[in-house]
Order: sequence, then structure tokens, then C-alpha cells
Amino acid sequence: MPVTRLQNYIDGAWVDSSASSTYPVTNPATGTVIGECPLSGAEELDAAVRSARKAFESWRRVPAQERVQYLFRFKTLMEEHAEELAAIVTRENGKTLSEAMGSVRRGIQMIDTATGAPSLMMGQALEDISSGIDCESIRQPMGVFACIAPFNFPAMVPLWFFPFAVACGNTFVCKPSEQVPFSQKLVWELIHEAGFPAGVLNLVNGGREVVESMCSHPDIAGVSFVGSSPVAEKVYAAAATNRKRVQALGGAKNFIIVMPDADMVLTTDNLCESAFGCAGERCLAASVILTVGEAHGPVRAGLIEHMNKVVVGDGSKPGVTMGPVINAGAKQRILDFIASGVADGAELVVDGREATVPDEGYFLGPTLFDGVTQDMKIATEEIFGPVLCIQKVASLDEALAITKAQPLANANSIFTQSGKSARQFRYEVDASMAGVNIGVAAPMSFFSFGGAKGSFLGDLKAHGREAFDFFTDRKVFISRW
Ligand code: NAD
Repeated sequence: MPVTRLQNYIDGAWVDSSASSTYPVTNPATGTVIGECPLSGAEELDAAVRSARKAFESWRRVPAQERVQYLFRFKTLMEEHAEELAAIVTRENGKTLSEAMGSVRRGIQMIDTATGAPSLMMGQALEDISSGIDCESIRQPMGVFACIAPFNFPAMVPLWFFPFAVACGNTFVCKPSEQVPFSQKLVWELIHEAGFPAGVLNLVNGGREVVESMCSHPDIAGVSFVGSSPVAEKVYAAAATNRKRVQALGGAKNFIIVMPDADMVLTTDNLCESAFGCAGERCLAASVILTVGEAHGPVRAGLIEHMNKVVVGDGSKPGVTMGPVINAGAKQRILDFIASGVADGAELVVDGREATVPDEGYFLGPTLFDGVTQDMKIATEEIFGPVLCIQKVASLDEALAITKAQPLANANSIFTQSGKSARQFRYEVDASMAGVNIGVAAPMSFFSFGGAKGSFLGDLKAHGREAFDFFTDRKVFISRW
């Protein structure tokens, strides 16, 4: 069967890319090539930006109340196609259907929140800032915005950005991950059906060249990036040098503290879901469990019990609870991490290499290390796979000191029944998404999303009210009559 070659969506129409090279899109559960993603060039990005720039002149004049009507129509279409979209996510990314559906639902919530633009975009006013002088501030759209997405949430991540951007009156260019471009193909078909004016929303498939062109294009006002930290650094530096607004969400190394007074059934259930959900390919996945004092024994025993119930296989099949990792390179990188943990002297309690998994595809069983210390690579570097580490510590202070030394401060949690411990954790933790008795500290669409320190570069985070700050400029009028 011939594989589909993806197209770009520019100026309200699907167009063939002129790219001579393509990325082979693979179903990670079978290893079969299911499509070819064109690696578009700078000229194609330029065509999309020119269309978006032209569309901006009229789109910004459409009243906010009318702009969000397009989003309401788009949301209804997304609801109607949610199952179809989730199946595509599973096919190109590997996560299970229920995980895929969860991510689609979270994406749809973003559209919901963005439709609040007529209220959320409002400015402020104050009479008599000085005698007889009034002041008001308004928010205005800025032009063309762009986003660059990672492979791990193919449907959801672009939705963190473009509904807010266009609700505010900007126009947009999206570049999905070349590894998983099919989800956004369907999303853009629904955008087309919702009837957005030509040029308001554009899709350019590609890799590095499109990213570099986005960071330097003079008509792009701002860039939203989600992906690994080394690329986040590059994008942040390049886009900022070219005087763009940037929000760059990078990699993560997430620590979870378990106090001896925690409810161990709830805790280990949550830890297992956090570490092995989406095969560990989640920027909010638990990576290292810091067990305080007596918490160690019950956490280890509970995790082993839960891990025995994980069913690895094709995420589209009923009963499967953990799908494959994205590709052969990712699997090898994770195998290298497991080998390094063994070489560094950690105890390999559950060895995912030994799990019974399908012959084809990029599968690994869940893996558990105990006896981990901070001088090991597995304790400090992002693994982005189904590998969980346990490190024993003596106190909450010691646990917090370990988390604070970690640069990729995306999400941290504590499990405890003590308000005092929870308060100390909230007060001191560096990670800016923090959970109390929550395994995956994921904010909803009306709160902001983004880590701290090396995990987030920029100042305004994704979605929530901060999206309305990121996608608008404030203008202040001071008047005397
Ligand atoms: P990646 O950095 O390899 O790719 C992300 C995007 O950057 C892709 O669109 C890709 O085409 C582009 N890209 C890759 N290399 C590039 C280069 N050298 N120059 C320019 N562009 C380049 O990330 P990934 O492997 O797709 O995604 C996994 C990573 O994303 C993990 O590190 C994960 O923690 C992170 N992530 C972070 C968050 C967050 O909210 N902080 C959310 C999801 C994923």
C-alpha cells in the first residue's frame, strides 16, 4: 500500500511541499512506515508567514466576540472527531487509546478556555491618575505567532497555543513534530471545515530548517517551543536575538517525595501511573522517587506489585496499559540508561529488558532501580522512557535539597498526610508545577503550564491567563481633556 505524503496547509488550502527530503513516519507498535513527512524549506515557511501576515490585517479587526465563534465551531468538530483523532495519536505515537483520548480532551479544553477571549483580553482603566488625567490600558494582537511541537503529545501541544493566539486576533503558523504529523493533519482539516479565513491558521511540516526559519523570520512576532532542553536553548537564543517573544518549554527530571505518613496504596498507584503512563514519555512523568525514612519499604513493595500488572503491547488493543516508545533510537537510548544504572551500581529490581513484549515495534517493559544515588546518570538526566528510580533519604530537608539541585525543574510532588510537610514542600520546591498527593502535576487549561530553571526559558508560560499576556501587547493611554 502506498504511504501518504503529508501536505502543508497554507493560505486556506492544502498544498504539496516542494521538499526533496522526507521523514518516514512509523507506527511504533509495529515498526511499519505509515507516512512521509516532507521536510519543508525556508521558502515554504515564508509563504505561510506572508499569508498569515496578510490575514492579520483583517483578522485583528474582526471583533473578539466574532473571532471566538470560529473556535466554537472548531470545538464542536473536535468533539465529533475526538475518537478518530485519538486513534491517529495512538497509531503514530504509540500511547494507549485511553491515554490518547485523555490528551485529545485536554486539547479541547484549551479551545474552551480560549473562547473566553472577549473577557480575558480586556484591559484596565483608572480615572484621575493625576488630577483630571485618566489612564487606560488595552491589549492588542501583535501579528504572526508560530509554534514548534514535540512528538509526545501530537494532538494536544499545538492546542496549548494557537486557540489563544487567534482568539486574541493574531494569525498563526504551526510546525508539528515530523515524527507524528498525522494528528495535526486531521486538526487542520477541522480548522478548514470550521471556516477560519484563509491565512489565519497555517501548517508547515518539517524539521530543523523550518524551526530555524521561524526563529529568524522578520514577520514572526513570537515563538512557542515545546521539546528537549538543548533545542529549547537554541530556539530561545535565536528567536530572542531576532527580537521575538519566546516561550520555550524544555526537558524535565521530575522528583517525587514520599513521606512515611503517606497513604501507601494511593501513593504507589499514582507513582506507577506517573512513571509508566505514556511509556514514561511525558514531561510530567515521575523519574526519581525520594523515599523519606520508613517510606522506603512500602513504596518499593507497592511499586513492584503495581508494575506486575502493567500490560505492554500495541496501544490500540484492549487491555494494553503501556504502549511502545517512539522509535528504535529512543529505545536504544533508554537501554543505554539501564546499562549505565547497572554499571553505576544501582540495584535493578525490575528489568524491563526481560519483559514479554511483541516481536515487532519498539517495546520495553517497565523498569525499577533501587539504591540510586545522585552521582548516577539515571538520577540526574532525563530518561524519557519507562524507567523509575528509588533513592532513600533521611528527611524532607534532604529530599528538598536534592530537588533544588536539579536544573530541569518541571514538576515535583509530595505524598504525605501531614499539612506541615506539604506546606514546607509548597514553600520551598523550585519546580513550578507541584503536586500534593498527585502523581502527574498537570494544570488545567485555565492555569499556566511550564517548568522552572532549565526546564523553561522565557517568562510567560503556556495557556491559562498567561496566554493572553503572551499573545498580546499592552498599550497605555493617558488622557486629559
Ligand atoms: P525535540 O527537541 O527533539 O524536538 C522538538 C521539536 O524541535 C520538533 O518539532 C523538532 O522538529 C524540532 N527540532 C529537533 N531538533 C532540532 C534542531 N536541532 N534544531 C531545530 N529544531 C529541532 O523533542 P522531542 O524528542 O520531540 O520531544 C521530547 C522532549 O520534549 C522531552 O525532552 C520532553 O521533556 C520535552 N517536552 C517538554 C514539555 C514541557 O512542557 N516542558 C512537554 C512535552 C515534551
